[in-house]
Amino acid sequence: MSNTPRIALGGILTECNHLGGLPIDISLYESTELFRDDEVLQQTMSVVGGMLEALRQQDVEPIPLIFASACAAGPITRECYEQLRGEWYERLELAMPLDGVLLPLHGSALAEGCDDPEGEMIRMARELVGPDVPIVVTLDLHAYITAEMVKHADALLGWETYPHHDQFQTGQRGARLLFDTIAGKCKPTMSMGKVPVVTSAINGSTNDDDPFADLMRYTKSLEERDEVLSTSLFLIHPYMDCEEMGSGGLVITDNDIELAKSLVGDIAERYWDRRHDLEPETMSPAAAIAKGMEVDGGPVILVECADCCGGGAAGDSIHTLSALIESGVDAESLVPVIDPEAAAACHEAGVGAELSLPIGHKRDPRWGETRTLTGTVESLHDGNFVYTGGQWEGHQEHMGPTAVFRIGSIKLMIMSRATYDWHDEQVRAVDLDPQDFKFIVAKNPMNYRHAYGKIAKGIFVLDTPGPTPATLKHVDFKKLKRPYFPADMEIEGLEPTILC
Ligand SMILES: [Zn+2]
Repeated sequence: MSNTPRIALGGILTECNHLGGLPIDISLYESTELFRDDEVLQQTMSVVGGMLEALRQQDVEPIPLIFASACAAGPITRECYEQLRGEWYERLELAMPLDGVLLPLHGSALAEGCDDPEGEMIRMARELVGPDVPIVVTLDLHAYITAEMVKHADALLGWETYPHHDQFQTGQRGARLLFDTIAGKCKPTMSMGKVPVVTSAINGSTNDDDPFADLMRYTKSLEERDEVLSTSLFLIHPYMDCEEMGSGGLVITDNDIELAKSLVGDIAERYWDRRHDLEPETMSPAAAIAKGMEVDGGPVILVECADCCGGGAAGDSIHTLSALIESGVDAESLVPVIDPEAAAACHEAGVGAELSLPIGHKRDPRWGETRTLTGTVESLHDGNFVYTGGQWEGHQEHMGPTAVFRIGSIKLMIMSRATYDWHDEQVRAVDLDPQDFKFIVAKNPMNYRHAYGKIAKGIFVLDTPGPTPATLKHVDFKKLKRPYFPADMEIEGLEPTILC
C-alpha cells in the first residue's frame, strides 16, 4: 500500500422501470442530486455520507468523482447515461493511480440499449484499475445482481432494511471493507445464489414477521461466522424485463469460495421455499372500497401499488379515483395524482374556482383513459417539502405547482412532478392531515406502512393496471423467460443459479 491510500468514490444511483414511466434525462438528476468533485465530499447523509464518514476515520485520501441520484422512472436516456458515465470515467482515469474504488450504485438502473449499467461501470473500472485494486460496491436491496457485477467487483454490499433507512451504515460498511482489503487484513471472495422469484415489494419489509424479514434475519446471522465478511439479501426490483431476473442471497467470505457458494445456495433454496408468502393477496378497487365501508372509522388505505413513482411509474393513474367516484360512497377521501396541466389550470383559476378538467393517464397513457372531472379548487401550494428520512433525508424536494381539487367528498391532490414517497411529507405539504380521511389512496408498495401504519383502520392492496403492479403474474415479459414464479408456481428440478 502506498503511504496514504487513494480511494475514488462516485456513481449513479437510480432505479429504473421497463414496463412504463418516462425516460430519465439529465434534467431529472440536475433537479434531484448531481454532485461533481468537491460537491461529493460535502455530502453528510445517505450512502455517500456514510462512505465519507468511514474514510475520515482512516488515513486515506478520498478522490471524488461524480454522484447522481434521482427518483425512479423509465430507463435513462442514452445521451444522459453516456454523459454521466463519461464524466464519471474521465475523473476515474484522471485519479489514477488508485488504491481502491468505492461505487455507490443501485443495482437496478437501466439505460436505453443497456440492461446492466452497473455491471458495465464496474467492468470499466476493473479494466482501468487492473486486477489488484479492490472495487467495493454498495447496492439497494432491490438490486438485479448480474454475472458481470459479481465477476468484476471484489465486494457487493446491499442495504439491509426496507423501508430503506440504512444507506449511511451500508456506506460505512462498504468503506471499512475496502479499507481492510487495501490493508491486507482480508481477501473478499463472493458468490451470489438466486432463484427465479419475481415478486413485488408488498411483503418485502425487513420488519416484524414479514417473510422477507425472516429471510433477511437468517442471511445476516451468517455474518456471525468468522470466515464471513458480509452477507446481503436481494429482492429484485421486479419491473424490469431482463434475462436472468431473480432474487436471493450474496455472501462474501474471507478467501473461501466453496463456503460462499454453499451458503448462497442454501439462502436461495430458503428463498424459493418462501415464494408463496412473498406473493401478495390483491383485490379490485371496488371490492376494497366496499370492504373499507364495513370498517369502523378511518383511514382505510387503498394501496394502488401499480402507480408508484418510487418504482418508476408516472403517478398519473386514476383507476382508484374512478372506483371511488363510481362507488357513490360519501366518505372523505384523499387521492394523489401527477398532472402538471391540471395543476396549472387550478393555479390559473384560483382558489374557489369551479372547473372541469381532463385528468389522469396523460404522462404515461398506456394504462388508462383520461377523464374530465368537475370540482372546486380548494387550495394552492408551491409543492416544496423536506424529506424526514430515507435516502434523501434532509433533501429539499419539490412537487411543483400543486392543488387540492375537491370532487364531492374526494380531495384530489394534483401535483406537477413525481416524487418518492417516504413518509407523509407530500400530504403535509398541502396542509392536509391523514387522520381526517376515511379513504387514503397510497401509491407505493411499502412506505404507506411508515406513513399510515399506526393510524390505519384497514389496508387493502389493489390490483390495477400500471407499470409497478402488486403482482407480476399478469405481466407479459419478453426477455425474462418462463419458468419463473409467480407465472409458474412449481418448477421441476429447479437448482439455484450460483454466480461467482
Ligand atoms: Zn429499494
